[in-house]
This record gives sequence, C-alpha cells and structure tokens, in this order.
Amino acid sequence: MNYSIALVPGDGIGPDVVTQATEVLDAVGDKFGRTFNYVELEAGGCAIDHTGEPLPPETLEAAKQCDALLLGAVGGPKWETLPGNLRPERALLGLRAGLEVYANLRPAVLLPQLRSACPLKDEVLAAGNLQGTDGFDLLIVRELTGGIYFGKQGRSDDGNSAFDTETYSKGEIERVLRTAYAAAEVRRKKLCMVDKANVLESSRLWRELTQALSREYPHIETSYLYVDNCAMQLVRSPGQFDVIVTSNLFGDILSDEAAVLTGSIGMLASASLGAPASSLAQKGPRGIYEPIHGSAPDIAGRDIANPLAAILSAAMMLRYSFGLEKEALAVEAAVNAVLDAGLRTQDIAGRGDHAGNEKVVGTRKMGAAVLEALINEA
Ligand code: NAD
Repeated sequence: MNYSIALVPGDGIGPDVVTQATEVLDAVGDKFGRTFNYVELEAGGCAIDHTGEPLPPETLEAAKQCDALLLGAVGGPKWETLPGNLRPERALLGLRAGLEVYANLRPAVLLPQLRSACPLKDEVLAAGNLQGTDGFDLLIVRELTGGIYFGKQGRSDDGNSAFDTETYSKGEIERVLRTAYAAAEVRRKKLCMVDKANVLESSRLWRELTQALSREYPHIETSYLYVDNCAMQLVRSPGQFDVIVTSNLFGDILSDEAAVLTGSIGMLASASLGAPASSLAQKGPRGIYEPIHGSAPDIAGRDIANPLAAILSAAMMLRYSFGLEKEALAVEAAVNAVLDAGLRTQDIAGRGDHAGNEKVVGTRKMGAAVLEALINEA
C-alpha cells in the first residue's frame, strides 16, 4: 500500500530532525515493502519569508490531500516581533483547525537507559510500577479543540470580574474517548479518565459518557481519577498508568507534568488525531505528528539536535494513521538499540546508566545509527 505524507520541516532544527525521520521511514518502507510518498510543504517562518503568510492556503490544501502530516517545528527570533496573527506559530493552529484534529496524544516514556534524567527517586519509580521496568510508559490523550480554551469568556462591565466557560458537547467528548480507547487497544489495555466530577458538571458528563462507552470495551480496564489526585499520582507512581484521557485544560497541565518526569525534551513525540477521512477509512485517523520541542534556534543547523523525538513521531504515524504496528515497533526497538549501545546526542548525554561508555554523536550520526539498527533488526 502507498502512503502520502505531507512534510512540513518548518524552521530552526525542524529540517534537521525531519530529514532523519524520513530516512528512517524510507528504511521502514524498504524493509517491510511499503511506499511512503512525501509532499514537502512550507509553513511557519520560512513560509512568511517566501509568501508573507505563516500558513499559505496551498500548504493547507496540499496537506488535506495527504494521509498524514509530519512536522518539525516552527518559529524563531527572526519573526518574534510580528503581530500575533502573522507569527509562525499561527501555522500550527491553522493546520490543526484545517485538518480537524481534536485529540492530542502525548506519550511520556522514561526509558531505563535514561533513568537518571528523571527527577523521581528509585523507590518512587518502583512504586506501583506494573511494567516490570525501572522506567514508565504512559500516554496522555488530551481533548484539543474544545472546553474552557474555546468557551465564552469575558469581563464584567465594571472590570471587577472575569469569566471563562468550560463547555463540552457529548459529541466532542465521545470522539476523543474513542480515540483514547483505540490507543489503549494497541497498548496495555488500561484507560484512566481524569476529571473533576466531584465539582464540575461538565466533568460529570465526561464520566457518564465514559461509563457508557466502557461497556463497548469490556477487555479494557477503565478507571477514574480526579485531576488533583492524578497530578499527585503522576509524581508518586507514574508506572501505574497506561492511557490517561482528559479535557483540554487538564490535559495541557498533566502532559507537561508528565513530560518533565522524562527529563528530556528531545525524546518526546506527539500526535494530533482527527476522525478517519471517509476515503481513507482503512488507514485510520488523519493526524499531525510532531516532536513536542520547538525550533531550538540556539542549535539550528549545527548537527547537534536530537532527532529521536521526530523519529518517534514518525513511529506514531505508522501506528495511528497507517495501522502499521509492526513497523512502529521496529522503529521504537531501533531507537532503544542505539540508546542501549550508549549513543547519545548532547542533550541526553551524561545522564544515563551508560555514563562511562557513552558516545556523544550529532543529529546525522544518531539518525544513521537508528537506520542501521532498524535494517539489522531480526
Ligand atoms: P525549544 O523547545 O525550541 O527549545 C528549548 C531548549 O531545548 C533549547 O535550549 C533547545 O536547544 C533545547 N532543545 C529543543 N529541542 C531539542 C532537540 N531536539 N535536541 C536538543 N536540544 C533541544 O523551545 P523555545 O526555545 O521556547 O522556543 C524556540 C522557538 O520554537 C520559539 O519561536 C517557539 O515559539 C517555537 N516553538 C515551536 C513549537 C512547535 O513548532 N510545535 C513548540 C514550541 C516552541
């Protein structure tokens, strides 16, 4: 089967890391007999320079014709003085809205090789850890286009008060719950819905709908936590979690908390998923896949950026948009293998169990090592 991928390298280290991700994808294609066709598109600062707009309409139109989109990062000091609606980051909002992605998936994975990057003590990491490792591997599914960030807001006439409104429709909640259950299906089959149902009416609707939907997924263990307790549990025993699903506001906060526990921004991938496009239904939901880091202008073009977050984002694309689980696992295993071998980019060097045997490499060498590990995997 052929898969078309919109490539938006963007600015700063975006092109550095996306190049490595596409080389790994090509190796996946050769190894497993898949064809990935790329459509390279401009968005962000580079698009402003060439067209005057952060998201040229032709970029969005072309992206809509593809099965999925792989993005590097956008932004940088050059464009920081532009008015808000002309800033590179606008492109992200435009792509999310245009491709109708409503579920943000952020894995937070602490690989045993990078154990010392985690600020938690050993005994905390071990507590309640059901994964039999000294790391953790959880996935936060955050509703992305509704809730209090999009609700009615304002100030009173006298300026003495302000309000924001958390509003969710049943449809908005149900579709993100379905995405989370689908993710739990291909993971460890545990889903925890996080809300504040003891106080908020909107949370009670989330809980009711989760209870109803859980009956369709009897093989998945569904549990519930209040958000304050979840924030606490994440730092008390993150290993207890598999998939966490929650609203926009709670997900924003919890996913940053979880990211900090892994200690390395250059390793973290993300996916933003929408509904399956009718003509591509067999390929799963359309999505935008991107590392969570920004364009890192301080290290752009210097061959030192960590490409692993971009490579792991490509693995998420294989899994969630293309349904290629075996291929996704192969990429993840290759990343693991290079870390096992002691290879580190500068940002994750000197922190792991291999501290004595580490070899610090640049962006291209790290990408090439993943590619080689993938090719040599049994
Ligand atoms: P950043 O993530 O770009 O960088 C923060 C720090 O982490 C820097 O020291 C950087 O060198 C380091 N870093 C980031 N990614 C790395 C990698 N792969 N390997 C090694 N080190 C890495 O965040 P910032 O400095 O706040 O933002 C820089 C620009 O990126 C800004 O213009 C911001 O608006 C933009 N940004 C874009 C996105 C996106 O495109 N999704 C996200 C966040 C920030």
